[in-house]
Amino acid sequence: MNNIQQYIIICYSTSQMLRVDSLLKALDVTTDLIPTPSEYGSICSTAIAISKEDKEKAEKILQEGNFAIKGIYPHKIRKLAGLMESLKHNVISEPFKAIIKKVEVGETLTKEEITFLLKIEGEAELKVLFETADRMRKEIVGDVVEVRAAIEFSNYCDKSCHYCGIRKGCTVPQRYRMTEDEIMEAVHELHDVGIKTVVLQSGEDEFYTVEELTKLIKRIKQETKMGITLSVGERSYEEYEALKKAGANNYLLKIETTNPEIFQFIHPDDDFEVRKQCAQWLKELGYVNASGNMIGLPGQRPEDIAEDILYFKKMGIHMIGIGPFIPADGTPFEKYPQGSVEMTLKAVAVTRLVCKNVYIPATTALASIDEDGQRKALQAGANSLMLISTPPKYRINYQIYSGKNMIDLDSAIQAIKDAGRKLPKYLKILPEEE
Ligand code: SF4
Repeated sequence: MNNIQQYIIICYSTSQMLRVDSLLKALDVTTDLIPTPSEYGSICSTAIAISKEDKEKAEKILQEGNFAIKGIYPHKIRKLAGLMESLKHNVISEPFKAIIKKVEVGETLTKEEITFLLKIEGEAELKVLFETADRMRKEIVGDVVEVRAAIEFSNYCDKSCHYCGIRKGCTVPQRYRMTEDEIMEAVHELHDVGIKTVVLQSGEDEFYTVEELTKLIKRIKQETKMGITLSVGERSYEEYEALKKAGANNYLLKIETTNPEIFQFIHPDDDFEVRKQCAQWLKELGYVNASGNMIGLPGQRPEDIAEDILYFKKMGIHMIGIGPFIPADGTPFEKYPQGSVEMTLKAVAVTRLVCKNVYIPATTALASIDEDGQRKALQAGANSLMLISTPPKYRINYQIYSGKNMIDLDSAIQAIKDAGRKLPKYLKILPEEE
């Protein structure tokens, strides 16, 4: 216990956590908001990390402030005991071995080491990388694969991201906006099969004002009590705050890349600093914060992906979606080569090794360029899947990239079974599907 460098404060609710965090900060205790370590609660919640030097001071402040928190616990270093021994029959290079040793004892990897892992090639070393990430996943988040479902409720967008098949000005078969009742019908279908969290996704469509979204969020909560993830782009602090108050639990806003030049090149209407600021606001407001990146963007190097992974770690991102870049017809990037399955899987594996206590989906984009891609990702560190639950008549119009695979419940169940993993107990499926 003596080598504990950090402690974590677990609160009873997000609002209590935010109050405790701001009080500690005001009294000069340095805090960081991180996904709750799995041994102390759901990783889809947030804990406050403090240094061991500040522990006593924080305890005193909380006592004096009469805060009945769940507790203050050691932030244990996640090790993989016996890792080297279990890999002794594998032939791997000495530098790789040295990194694996660091993973075994829970030491932090440097950017250079992360980049090294992303550059690994050759079947034998890739196998070791994926198996190590798979073991980390198993020890931290277990075998159950979390299943969520997205309803893409509008394909109108005010922006023109160069890679996106629904960008403003792009020809899509049809622009659509689902009505509140249509969205609720799709939500109820998900609720009926036991899905616990719905992802409401759209382009940056001003038609859906905060008032409209608030009405929808409240209705979903009233009628189903489901968890809600919003993915409606960059908004103001006040809007994020209002949506959180209305009941939104999670927010998905991908950074896509942390290389400012590439970010600007692919997002003509966006500002890298604004994107980072939005992610910071979401964190400060207590959202379960979801981000992600694209692999194979023009000009992107392994070093850039290493920076992305370090950003996810530093920002305390709870859920990290990593998908290959796939060119979309009719966009400025339609002729660019797509990202590789192998690099995407390496990024998934390394993200698991670095960020450890996070949700990593096996993305739809990966399944779109490799029909076995989701199983492969689940065996390389991923632990969740997202269904595309947009009503069939609209789905075809939400092609952010060409050839998008429509993951339904059956294909998700198949990928989970093929990966030798467990279905979540909350899914109400027929016995023969189990
Ligand atoms: S990526 Fe998102 S914000 Fe950019 S054009 Fe597509 S839908 Fe709009």
